[in-house]
Amino acid sequence: MYEFAVTPAVTQLRRPGVTITEVSPGSLAEELEITPNDRIVRVNGRTVRDYLDFRFQTAGETELTFQVKKPTGQTIEIEFDRDEGEDFGLMFEQIVPRQCANECIFCFCKGNPEDARPSLFVRDEDIRLSFLYGNYTTLSSITEDEMKRIVEQRLSPQYVSVHATDLKTRAYLLGVDEKRADISDKLKRLLDNDIELHAQVVLCPEINDGAILEKTLRDLAAHYPKVVSTAVVPVALTRYNTDERLTRVTPEFCRRTIKEVEKLQKEFRRTLGTTFAFLGDEIYIKGGVEIPSRRHYGNYPQIEDGVGMVRAFLGKFERIVRHRSVPPASAGGAYSAHPGVNIRVQREAVVPTKDRLTASRPPANAGGTDLFGTVLTGEMFAPILSEQVKEYNEAFSTRLHVLAVPNTYFGGDVSVAGLLTGQDYRAIAGKVKGDFVIIPKHTIKSDEPILLDGMSFDELKSLFAVPVYDLDADGLIDFLAK
Ligand code: SF4
Repeated sequence: MYEFAVTPAVTQLRRPGVTITEVSPGSLAEELEITPNDRIVRVNGRTVRDYLDFRFQTAGETELTFQVKKPTGQTIEIEFDRDEGEDFGLMFEQIVPRQCANECIFCFCKGNPEDARPSLFVRDEDIRLSFLYGNYTTLSSITEDEMKRIVEQRLSPQYVSVHATDLKTRAYLLGVDEKRADISDKLKRLLDNDIELHAQVVLCPEINDGAILEKTLRDLAAHYPKVVSTAVVPVALTRYNTDERLTRVTPEFCRRTIKEVEKLQKEFRRTLGTTFAFLGDEIYIKGGVEIPSRRHYGNYPQIEDGVGMVRAFLGKFERIVRHRSVPPASAGGAYSAHPGVNIRVQREAVVPTKDRLTASRPPANAGGTDLFGTVLTGEMFAPILSEQVKEYNEAFSTRLHVLAVPNTYFGGDVSVAGLLTGQDYRAIAGKVKGDFVIIPKHTIKSDEPILLDGMSFDELKSLFAVPVYDLDADGLIDFLAK
């Protein structure tokens, strides 16, 4: 899920226009004397609600009239021509997410400690973010305007949390009545209009597993290729989720689910030519079952949902050990048009430039044979990464250590790297070895250098006697390949 800054959603949504945050020097916008904090309210007479509207309404247009509201309150009109495809040189405020009206029994917001940073309590349910960043929505409270907008502006693909096609079960999981939970007409309308969908099932033992899961996957697969793929990810309960309706995911449950879904995957590969229904990596790891091969994942359609990440990483790591080179994009790694960024992020998206905020790249020459440092990761991935790093050390006479960081902040089943917090790092700070520490990049907020528990990145760095670098999986691969 893409995380957004918390701003007053309701007032922002009602305010017309989109605010400019940056104007590139020498750009067309600068020539037009558009400046940061200006709001573009209309384009060629049509109202602009956000930068998606701006993109849509300017696409292909060479004769333009902008209605611009200045920070002083003055509104001006700017008429101009531009060359075909000429960029405006503008950066926009991010979209403020519309929030959901559900009460999902497994909602992660309910599993947050009270002092978690406010953005973790944002229940975003926004078809714009679904298109731009691959955030899942349930479509249960989508408005007619939003439905029209998806179709008119071709906001495809959409990422839909289906959870179960059995209506009673879906309503139960979402905590809404069956009328609201029923999205069959909406799905049909989107599919009839050639909007592609990726689906998600958050798997809750004893609620939407077994026969209900099989029905869900079969119902969705019947719409392939318009429903492109389905991710089945296990419910993750922190120690704050005390809802008695929920059952924790066990290794035995994972093994059973793998067996059941494997049969369907084989059938789908035979009939559709794709695995179609992908189980989250956590299910294999927890079940102690080998992660499927690269072919299983095809072009990794659900990688940002934790599906296939481990296989992709292993593929790249093995290549480094064998050839000390970074695999090409087609080798199961750099799946995105934006290297290092979520595969699902569209070109139109405003992507926070965290690199500018943290600016903590390891030195280019750090990847020599003297490499001596510690890589921190979550308990789930640590055994896998340790094995790889051991091979790397043997191949290149380096001294890298992998340290599993227990998640004490969220507790419960949470063992993924991306949810580690400042206090978790603090607890193991005395155990690191070597000249540097690498932490998972995603533990730092995308648009601000703070961690999930509110600790600043600077404070985190001060906990360690050696430099701290934040790298995502691709960054780690690049670093080690040097
Ligand atoms: S849709 Fe459900 S899981 Fe998502 S934010 Fe809303 S209540 Fe939480």
